[in-house]
Amino acid sequence: MSRMTSRFHCVLAAATVAGLFVGVAGQAVRPSLLVRDVTLIDGTGTPPRSGVSVLVRDGRIVSVAPAGATQPTDVARVIDGRGLVAIPGLIDAHVHLSGGPREEQIASLRAALRGGVTAVWDLAGDARTLGELSREALVGDIESPAIFYVALMSGPAFFTDPRVVEASAGYRSGDAPWARAVTPGLDLVQAVAEARGTGANALKLYAALDGPTVRRVTAEAHRQRLRVVAHGTVFPAKPGELVDAGVDMLAHAAYLVWEGRPPSPEFQKRAQGDFDGVAPDSPVIDRLLRAMRDRHVALNPTLWVFAGHPAADGLADRRIRWGAEVTRRAYEAGVTIVAGTDGMTTRGDPLPALHRELELLVTSAGLPPAAALSAATRNAAEVMGLGAERGALPPGRVADIVLLAANPADDIRNTRAIRYVIKGGAVVREPDQAR
Ligand SMILES: [Zn+2]
Repeated sequence: MSRMTSRFHCVLAAATVAGLFVGVAGQAVRPSLLVRDVTLIDGTGTPPRSGVSVLVRDGRIVSVAPAGATQPTDVARVIDGRGLVAIPGLIDAHVHLSGGPREEQIASLRAALRGGVTAVWDLAGDARTLGELSREALVGDIESPAIFYVALMSGPAFFTDPRVVEASAGYRSGDAPWARAVTPGLDLVQAVAEARGTGANALKLYAALDGPTVRRVTAEAHRQRLRVVAHGTVFPAKPGELVDAGVDMLAHAAYLVWEGRPPSPEFQKRAQGDFDGVAPDSPVIDRLLRAMRDRHVALNPTLWVFAGHPAADGLADRRIRWGAEVTRRAYEAGVTIVAGTDGMTTRGDPLPALHRELELLVTSAGLPPAAALSAATRNAAEVMGLGAERGALPPGRVADIVLLAANPADDIRNTRAIRYVIKGGAVVREPDQAR
């Protein structure tokens, strides 16, 4: 109770300082904001528009109008957008937040937010921690991107992995509602309902599942309005069986190599594919990519995690090249590319890793800069089931906006030239603020 009271007082104090006021339902209402005379890349696919003003009220975009038009006079704050480029807040659709000391989690989230990342998708962890971080991010107790997360399902063989044992602490490994072993006797309807009850918006299918099981789990998850993410291969189910089952996204481009080799029950070998024997341009991979396009299965390549942390197994260079080449071919085939880092931040780099992933999508996988930007904004929001709320900046959307000093459509590295970060209509980073 005392904690609640002190939080209540914090809101009132913040209201005085930041000019917020408390609405009828007791909820803080964000001050209005006008970004005047900016170049806007709104993420809907329309070309950049220069000389526009973006009006934000109560956390959402209200209007986008020519800068010369009559401007409202009652806004709490005006940002001079001349010389700046506005893009939608970046979304890292593959992070892992739980585990490790809480102070590190908090520092990492703060760095991500100040580095332009306004939403993240945690693809497996301890849902108790994730739910609490998500709540704290939502009410403003911590400086953080908005946090969305999944519940994991996997074959029983995976549940000796120390990471999942840790994420299930207090439960027998395999029995936690957010980290569930799919056994023959499992009541799948109940298990999916419990996964959903953790606050997760998707299931992650990790390993040790066969094709028919993936199909049953995916159908039940979709019936209960959860999205489904899978590793590029989950052994013994091959990539093509995951696509046939209708999962929404495959993670790790390099794992798609297993489409060209017989399935193995040894999911631990997932990164040790036959990168020499199965060419990225082989017919079997082409067929897979066309099926992904036709079934609307997105690809989450995670190029940076392989390139930035190369494994010492003698395959690192080939794995990196293969993943990048398949990402290029997937993009050219019309597969939706969704950016994610599998890491969010790295020690020693003040900027979140998503900027590196974006650079690799352009320099290694050959995406045009605008397409890489879509991978970290609109495409990410859509695969997360948040397409009506986030990922683009037409009127009505959540006002997650990053103001850059240079145009990322000219050079993707310009996503690092951050001047302001606006999250839900609130300015959370100013130009003179250290990261
Ligand atoms: Zn991951």
